[in-house]
Amino acid sequence: MDFNLTEELKMLKEMAYKFAVAEITPFSQECDEQEKYTPEIRKKAAENGLVGAWIPEEYGGAGAGILGNAIITEELSKVDMGIGLNVVAAGFGCESIFQYGSEEQKKTYLAPVCAGDKVSAGSFTEPNAGTDVAGYKTRAVKDGSDYVINGNKMFITNGTVCDFMVTQCITNPEEKKHNSFSLIIIPADAQGVTRNKLHGKMGIRASDTAEIALEDVRVPQSNLVGKEGHGFRELMHFFDTTRVMVSGQALGLSEACLETSVKYVKERTAFGAPLGSYQLTQMKLTEMAIRIEALRGLVYKAAWLIDQGTPDYTLAAMAKFYGGQTAVFCANYAVELHGGYGYIEEYPVQKWYRDAKILELYEGTKEAEIMTIGRALQAK
Ligand SMILES: Cc1cc2nc3c(=O)[nH]c(=O)nc-3n(C[C@H](O)[C@H](O)[C@H](O)COP(=O)(O)OP(=O)(O)OC[C@H]3O[C@@H](n4cnc5c(N)ncnc54)[C@H](O)[C@@H]3O)c2cc1C
Repeated sequence: MDFNLTEELKMLKEMAYKFAVAEITPFSQECDEQEKYTPEIRKKAAENGLVGAWIPEEYGGAGAGILGNAIITEELSKVDMGIGLNVVAAGFGCESIFQYGSEEQKKTYLAPVCAGDKVSAGSFTEPNAGTDVAGYKTRAVKDGSDYVINGNKMFITNGTVCDFMVTQCITNPEEKKHNSFSLIIIPADAQGVTRNKLHGKMGIRASDTAEIALEDVRVPQSNLVGKEGHGFRELMHFFDTTRVMVSGQALGLSEACLETSVKYVKERTAFGAPLGSYQLTQMKLTEMAIRIEALRGLVYKAAWLIDQGTPDYTLAAMAKFYGGQTAVFCANYAVELHGGYGYIEEYPVQKWYRDAKILELYEGTKEAEIMTIGRALQAK
């Protein structure tokens, strides 16, 4: 057993962090305040191999694997989780194309995303069903050589900035719920697609989130990803990798909270001594540090297993669950340790506090992760 990162991964980690500090820090506050999406940063990141880094080189990626991608996500999220998401989720949805798509689909869709020329979205959640994945209603009906798609999608990351969306649709309503779904690629500019940006998010405000209406949207049947009727299972495998990515976000944000807090309590004094000299302060730092170490173990192991070809769906859910909890916990302590300064925009901890909460909501709520883990424990 070797817990050390390879030299390549160490270099990738360093490069990603340097990129984030140089290219993301100057825009962080502005993007948060103005809900601004930054294609320029995504493009620069792509030039540095940071977009779709998990995609193998033959399809245009950096071939960094899921572990490499988790490390990139961690480093960008130390600086700004929202802008970082625009980089690491620029290929959101492409996980399914890579896992289940035809050779032609992989060649068509993956390389332009990695190059920073195109953006994708994973379009699953609906206004009336999020956690209840089998409750989606969007319908794709065959007509000649096409599918005609009708339905509504909600909270879609990259919704108004994407070029195409991997979309969960019912294609086989006659089958039992779990066998009725399929993943279909919809070009964002197809006739009948209406996209509206959602405003007023609590955190990750640099990330684009949209509601999408699909009205008689016609796409060729060759846009089917994988097998008809297998969409539900394909989506569950999609979460193997994307939950690891989200837990990488949690890791980076938690680390930033700890580092910033350590620095602050060494400088700030109260009652004639640095805050860090008091045991109550040390307890907070200690609890943060232990959780971060445990989370790193979960994230890296879940990522590494995927790279070994032995993904562990339950472990990915554990990493995601624990990641959300750790990030919310660390951000809360970071604000507390900064006192009143933690509550004003001059210090980034208030932003991290707002950003952290999404980690317990998207890519499966914490309750959804509990259901996944709880079921898996009893299935053994
Ligand atoms: C900023 C943002 C970005 C997002 N990006 C995407 C994206 O790119 N693509 C996409 O498809 N979706 C995306 N989502 C949607 C997100 O994944 C869903 O919001 C999430 O899965 C929860 O679904 P819901 O909002 O419908 O809540 P609901 O499913 O209605 O759940 C409400 C509450 O009830 C709980 N609950 C539900 N069922 C049970 C149960 N059986 N037992 C106990 N508790 C339960 C939930 O855990 C939650 O706490 C995004 C959301 C946000 C806010």
